[in-house]
Parts: sequence; structure tokens; C-alpha cells
Amino acid sequence: MARLVKRAFKYRFYPTEEQAAELSRTFGCVRLVYNRALEERTRAWHDERRRVSYAQSSAALTRWKKTEELAFLAEVASVPLQQTLRHLQTAFAHFFAKRARYPRFKSRKKSRTSAEYTRSGFTWRGGRLTLAKMAEPLDIRWSRPLPEDTEPSTVTVSLDRAGRWFVSLLCEDTIAPAPATTAAVGIDAGITSLLTFSTGEKITNPRHERHGRARLAKAQRQLSRKAKGSNNREKARRKVARVHARIADRRRDFLHKLTTRLVRENQTVVIEDLAVRNLLKNRSLARAISDAAWTELRSMLTYKCAWYGRDLVVIDRFFPSSRLCGNCGTVRDTLPLNAREWTCDRCGTVHDRDDNAARNILTAGLAATACGGGARPRRESSRTGQPPVKQETRRATAGLRP
Ligand SMILES: [Zn+2]
Repeated sequence: MARLVKRAFKYRFYPTEEQAAELSRTFGCVRLVYNRALEERTRAWHDERRRVSYAQSSAALTRWKKTEELAFLAEVASVPLQQTLRHLQTAFAHFFAKRARYPRFKSRKKSRTSAEYTRSGFTWRGGRLTLAKMAEPLDIRWSRPLPEDTEPSTVTVSLDRAGRWFVSLLCEDTIAPAPATTAAVGIDAGITSLLTFSTGEKITNPRHERHGRARLAKAQRQLSRKAKGSNNREKARRKVARVHARIADRRRDFLHKLTTRLVRENQTVVIEDLAVRNLLKNRSLARAISDAAWTELRSMLTYKCAWYGRDLVVIDRFFPSSRLCGNCGTVRDTLPLNAREWTCDRCGTVHDRDDNAARNILTAGLAATACGGGARPRRESSRTGQPPVKQETRRATAGLRP
């Protein structure tokens, strides 16, 4: 059965001068409203132990617009200002639920510049998108089609550090079911290759990543030589941002293809909870990039498994996937990071480090789903007609721990 999901479609667009100016003003107002509201909430909490609600923040915004000092807030579209207060509300809800740190101020330099428009903040006519306070529709490059017979429910406009404008449209989309299968795969984030599958397949870093890294290193060297505050430094900074953006774009493409394939071919996908990476404290550029790739891979697997009714099992980070002999079950005390191969002391099997780890991850994941109860990942298949999708699967701890 096909499944209806909310899905974001992101495109580049090219604003006219007026549109760019209008959007820049809007971004500035969004940041100001967010920071002011955060300040008020902080003061209320600090001085009076009082929590401020969204409705109270919203009422405050209405008052600010009537003051001389902040009258300019009334000149930009009102929806993005409301939306940023909603985001602040969510940030506080996460904080009070102890899921997140205390919300921080948005800085001009470091924060993502974006504005979110809900249905009342834009018009959508014949496939043309016009934002509030604008006369002309946006000049969007439709690099892939939107699903048919759908309209965006939310639109987010952003400007990245490389100076590129994007618009992201949240739409309903129909996901066709993936072929039925009982296949399962374990994935190891390898030391020598980017990923190793329990099938023995190894995925190396795509070649363009190496080129990209070389270009990035060069751009960063050039940036470091420019005087602070100079025009040339700003140019060099943009150049670094562009190289970064290009690496990220191509990596995302690559990971999309890979994760779609994995999810189509397998009913069960098992991965490790890789916060363990942080323990390695290897701060090389290559490692930073592959860590980012892992985070992205995991998030893509999470939502694609949900879309296609597949199971994603996440293995406990303390599971000794590399040090466990997949043949006899002996766990070594240590295994140096640079050891690509090792021989089991007990049964004498020679292991390829990553192959062995990937197979152990699969075994642990399957054991966890088979033993049921607490370890079963909490998601239901679409075919059973049960309410879909708890996005984050449970951590499975298999009975294989030392
Ligand atoms: Zn052994």
C-alpha cells in the first residue's frame, strides 16, 4: 500500500534585488524577534521563576510593533516572525523536558539565516510561489518535479554561507512500497573504508571527496593569509563556504542513492550508535567529513525505513563489534586502531577487521529483534495497518556483550 508522507523539496532560486532586500530585512527581523523574546523569557524565569507561553510572546510582539523603536517590525511579513516565536516555544519545551540545552541567542554571523512561511504567508498559483509582501513570484529552478496534485503547506527561504538562496517546500508525497524481502544487512563505519556491509561489500569514500578536501585545504590556507576585516578576506571566506557547500551537496547525493538502495533491498538494516566515534578524538579533516557523512546516513536511514516500512535497528555503542570473533564468540581485550586484520587467539580465524565488525553488527541486530520484548525496535510495518512510525528506533543490546 502506498504511504502518504510530508516531504521537503528544496530548490535554488534567484531573487530580484527588491526581493533579496526584502528577505534580508525579514531575516534581520526574525533574528531580532527571536532574541528579544528569548531575553524576555530568560528575565521572567530568572527574576520571577515564571514561564512565558507562546501566546504571551506573540502578544509582546504585537506591542513591540506599536513602539517607535520597533515599528519597522510591522513592515516585513508577519508570518515568519510568528514562526520564529513558535520555534522558540519548541526550543523551551525541549529544554524543560531535559532534551536540549537552554536556547541560545541567534548571532548575525553564525546562525542560519532563514524565514519560514506557513499557508497564510504565501500564495501558490499554477505552480508559482509568491511570498507575502512581494509583488513577483520567486524565480525558482525546478531541478526536480514536485509531486502532482499537491500544494506546499510550509515554505522556508534561506541564504547559505556561500551566498546561495534556497527555498524548501513542505508537501505531501506518496511513497510507493518497496519490494517485499526478508534480507537484512549490518553496516560498519569502517576505519579503512567509509562503510562495510555484512555482505562483504565495501563502500569507499567517493573520489570527489578527496579532490574536494584538497580544494578545501587550499581555500582555507588562502583565507588564513587575508587580513581580518578586509574585502579580500570576505571573498576568501565565501570561497571556503562554496567549496564546503559543494562537498556537502555531492556527499548528500551519494548518500541518498546509497540509502535508497539499502532500504529497498533489505527489510532490516542494523547500524551502530556511533557516538563512540567521539572517543577516538581524531580531529583530522577526513574524519570530520566521514563523521558528518555518518550522521547524515543515519538520519536518511531513519526516515527512509519509516517511509518504506523497514526496520532500522541501532546497536548499543558499547557492543564490541570489532573485537568480537564472529566465529567462536571470543572477545579480545584490545585491538589497535590501525589493525586491519587480526587472528583470533582461540579459534585461529583470520578476520578482516571491518568485515567481521559488520557481520557482528548484523548478528547482534537480528538477535535483538528476535528476542522480542524490550529490545524489539518500536516500529510497526505499514502493511499491518497499525499507526505508523516512531522515528527513532530503540537501541538494541544483544546478548553478546563480554
Ligand atoms: Zn575465534
